[in-house]
Amino acid sequence: MSNPKRQPEAPAAQLDLTNTAIAFASLSDEQLKQAIFLFKVIGNPLVVKLGPTFADLSLKLRLPIQGLIKKTIFSHFCGGETIPDCLPRIEKLGSKSVGTILDFAREGGGQDADFDLVTQEIIRTIDMAAQHRSLIPFAVFKPTGVATLDLLAKLDRGEQLSADEQAAFERVKGRFEAICQHAAKKRVRIMIDAEETWIQKTVDALAMDLMARLNKEQAIVFNTVQLYRHDRLEFIKACHQTAKENGFYLGLKLVRGAYLEKENNVAAREGRPSPINPSKEATDREYNEALKFCVAHVDRIAICAGTHNEDSVRLLVELMAQHHLAPNDERIHFAQLLGMSDHISFNLAAAGYLVAKYVPYGTVSELLPYLTRRAQENSSVLGQSSRELDLLNREYARRKAAKK
Ligand SMILES: Cc1cc2nc3c(=O)[nH]c(=O)nc-3n(C[C@H](O)[C@H](O)[C@H](O)COP(=O)(O)OP(=O)(O)OC[C@H]3O[C@@H](n4cnc5c(N)ncnc54)[C@H](O)[C@@H]3O)c2cc1C
Repeated sequence: MSNPKRQPEAPAAQLDLTNTAIAFASLSDEQLKQAIFLFKVIGNPLVVKLGPTFADLSLKLRLPIQGLIKKTIFSHFCGGETIPDCLPRIEKLGSKSVGTILDFAREGGGQDADFDLVTQEIIRTIDMAAQHRSLIPFAVFKPTGVATLDLLAKLDRGEQLSADEQAAFERVKGRFEAICQHAAKKRVRIMIDAEETWIQKTVDALAMDLMARLNKEQAIVFNTVQLYRHDRLEFIKACHQTAKENGFYLGLKLVRGAYLEKENNVAAREGRPSPINPSKEATDREYNEALKFCVAHVDRIAICAGTHNEDSVRLLVELMAQHHLAPNDERIHFAQLLGMSDHISFNLAAAGYLVAKYVPYGTVSELLPYLTRRAQENSSVLGQSSRELDLLNREYARRKAAKK
């Protein structure tokens, strides 16, 4: 693996996630006020309930709302419409040692032409990462950006494919191959996002096959593991065993999982047990156990911890110290979403850890579903906006006091 570093003393002590001066150093006073206003607005449950429909309708009716969205919620959570648009953001994050993961936002068009277009765009993000190695540590793609959910689900169920479906699946494999081979050629790490559980067996098989061939010297291809599933710890252990037996490195993005409600609802509708843990505590436990297992086997597993959970972040920092890993060990990355949990990202980066932000980009209408999800998770219904808003307010108060 590339550049493993050992470090004698514990780096955990230097990490202070509560430092808002570091967290928001890249926001001017004006931008800080704008962010406070934004989180207050999206913290309003009524705005979250009605906003997305209103925005969608207004965009369809070509009402002049694009500019407003772009200047507010879009500019907070997104990098821009195109890769070049994102450059100032990439450089700004980079100036604080925070990397970028360009996340092309288009969600499943359904036609081969759409999938080929997404494939080409992902290849462009890999080229961009290769040109800006110190700023862009990973590229990423979603399986449903290059394949239909129906086809992947049919394969997952083990059903016989028609000749046309088999041909379509060969094209899907070709897209996975083209993206990951290009990443390997350019030595850019590539992550495969995880989506619904009913396509994951197929995605896992594709990812493992690619890792077995392309991760011989270091982890280039990273599969995603959702620890809200009760079977994933065993899955990680089995993948590790396969990697060991076949002499390749395992690349894993560890997340809790984003489709909780949908998974539970579909399982209930189909009369089968839910694949999801019975409680948040159980998910937290599984996530943290996964961190422990991966760090203990860091000689063969590289991870990207995609999380906004402070306890998990602190745990990973402690585990790195226990295993004498330097904060900038190339095998351990942390990642958060742009515009969220800056206190985690920027404080980790300031303490020398490798951190990156998912920076979604695309048109306003392509990003509307993404922005809706961000607004929903920050709505006060879930009691979550308070953390972002509290931190922003604390920084505002700190700056005001400092000026006196
Ligand atoms: C960089 C990055 C990449 C990501 N990539 C993906 C991806 O590819 N696929 C994907 O699915 N998600 C992805 N996510 C989203 C992620 O899965 C989580 O939804 C999100 O980060 C919130 O979890 P958390 O670890 O930040 O912590 P927290 O906010 O502490 O945890 C919230 C999570 O806990 C779980 N949870 C909540 N309530 C319960 C309950 N009652 N029972 C069981 N579990 C519960 C859910 O997974 C929920 O999202 C990504 C997130 C980041 C930051």
